[in-house]
Amino acid sequence: PDGAAMLSGSQLPPNSASLAMAYAGHQFGSFSPQLGDGRALLIGELIDKNGNRKDLQLKGSGPTPFSRGGDGKAAIGPVLREYVIGEAMHALGIPTTRALAATSTGDYIFREQPVAGAVLARVAASHIRVGTFQFFAARGQTEKVKQLADYAIKRHYPEITDSKDRYLELFRQVRDRQASLLSKWVLVGFVHGVMNTDNMTISGETIDYGPCAFMDHYDPDTVFSSIDEHGRYAYGKQPTIAQWNLARFAECLIELVVSGDRDAAVQLLTTEVSAFPAIYQAVWLNGMREKLGLSTVHEGDLELANQLYAAMQGQNVDFTQLFRELANVVRGHDVGAMALFDDPKAGFTDWLHTYRHRLSLEEQEAGLRATKMDEINPIYIPRNHLVEEALSAAGNGNMKPFKDLLEIVTKPYSLVQGAEKFAQPAPRETEKYVTFCGT
Ligand code: AMP
Ligand code: MG
Repeated sequence: PDGAAMLSGSQLPPNSASLAMAYAGHQFGSFSPQLGDGRALLIGELIDKNGNRKDLQLKGSGPTPFSRGGDGKAAIGPVLREYVIGEAMHALGIPTTRALAATSTGDYIFREQPVAGAVLARVAASHIRVGTFQFFAARGQTEKVKQLADYAIKRHYPEITDSKDRYLELFRQVRDRQASLLSKWVLVGFVHGVMNTDNMTISGETIDYGPCAFMDHYDPDTVFSSIDEHGRYAYGKQPTIAQWNLARFAECLIELVVSGDRDAAVQLLTTEVSAFPAIYQAVWLNGMREKLGLSTVHEGDLELANQLYAAMQGQNVDFTQLFRELANVVRGHDVGAMALFDDPKAGFTDWLHTYRHRLSLEEQEAGLRATKMDEINPIYIPRNHLVEEALSAAGNGNMKPFKDLLEIVTKPYSLVQGAEKFAQPAPRETEKYVTFCGT
C-alpha cells in the first residue's frame, strides 16, 4: 500500500524533497519565458543498479506552482500511451525516459468529458531540457546558466569536466547525442509530434510522449498531432527541427563560451550548430547500412539509401514491413518486398537491382547477414490503431489488449505465432490517425 500511495502521489517517500522544475521553451516556434512542470513532480533521485543517477518523477499528480490554470492531472489514455510507446522505444534500443508505473487514481478528471485520471511514474537520466537553460538565459541570469551547465556536465558528461572550453564542448556533446537520437527515431519511423525546446533533453533521451506515433506507410509529411496544422514536426522535418532547437540551446551558452568577445563566441557556436546536418547524416547512414545489412562502407551507399526512400514515396509501402522484408531479399527472395509496393516497377525493382549489386560486395555469408538484419529491423512497433484500441479498452476497465500489446512491442524482433495483426498497418479504410497532446 505504501508503494501504491507513493507511485500515485498521495504519499511522499520519507526524506523526499519533492519539487516542480521551472523551464521556458519555444512552442511551435514562439517563445514562452515561463512554462515549468505544470503536472509533474520530481520526487527524488535514485542510484540504479548500474550506479547511474536517475530522476523519479510523477506526471499527473496534481497542481504545482507552474500549472498556469491547468488541473495538473493526467488522463489514463495519455498515461498508458506514454507507458507503451516509451517501453517500445526502449526495446528498440532508443534512449528514452521510462515508465516505472501507471496508477489509476479512481478520480474523474475533466477534459472534453469526464475521463479516468491516472499518474505516471517515470524514470529519466534527468529532466534538464533545452528549455531549462532558456529559462535562465532569457532572464539574463548568466551565473545561473553557468551553474546549470556545470551541473549538466557533472551529471551527463563528466568526461568533459577538464576540457579547454567546456561549455563549447557541452554544446558539441548534446548536439551529437541529439543527432544520434534523431537518427534512431527516423530509422524506425517514429514521429515525436511536439519537438518544442522544452521537450528536448540535454541527456539525449526521448521525453514527453504526447501526440507521438509510429508511421505505417512511408510518407515524409506524416503528422499525427491535431495541433500541428502546418506540419512543423512532420516525420521528415524532425532532424531540421532538432538543429533549430540546438541553435536555441547554443544561444543560451554564448556568454559562457571562452572567446574574448561575444561575436567570436557566436561565431564558434554557429560553426558547431552548422555541423549538425553532416553529423546527423553520418549517424543516420550508419544506421541505414545496418538496416540494409551492409557491414562494409562503399561509395554510393548514401545514394542507395536515399533512392530507397525515393522508391517508397507515394507507394503506400509499410515502412516497418519493408525493412524486415529486406532480410529475405538478402536470402534471395524478393516477392515479399515487392508485394508491399502499389507498383514495384515504378522504382523499387530498379532499386533492388542496385541493392543486389551492392550486396555482392559484402564478404560475410548471406544467411548470417540476414540474421543480423532481423536483430535490428523490428517486426512489431506500437501500431497506432492497436494503441488506440488498447487505450480505449483500458478506459473501460479492460487491460488485456494493453497488456498483450505491451508484451509484443517490448520484444520487437522475435516472431510470435498468432500475432500477425500486430505486424500489420491499419486497415486502409481507417480514418487518418490524429493524436492530442496536453491531455
Ligand atoms: P506538454 O505538451 O505535455 O509538453 O506540456 C506543455 C506544458 O503544459 C508543460 O509545461 C506542462 O507541464 C503543461 N501542462 C500540460 N497539461 C497540463 C495540465 N493538465 N495541468 C497543468 N499543466 C499542464
Ligand atoms: Mg513537455
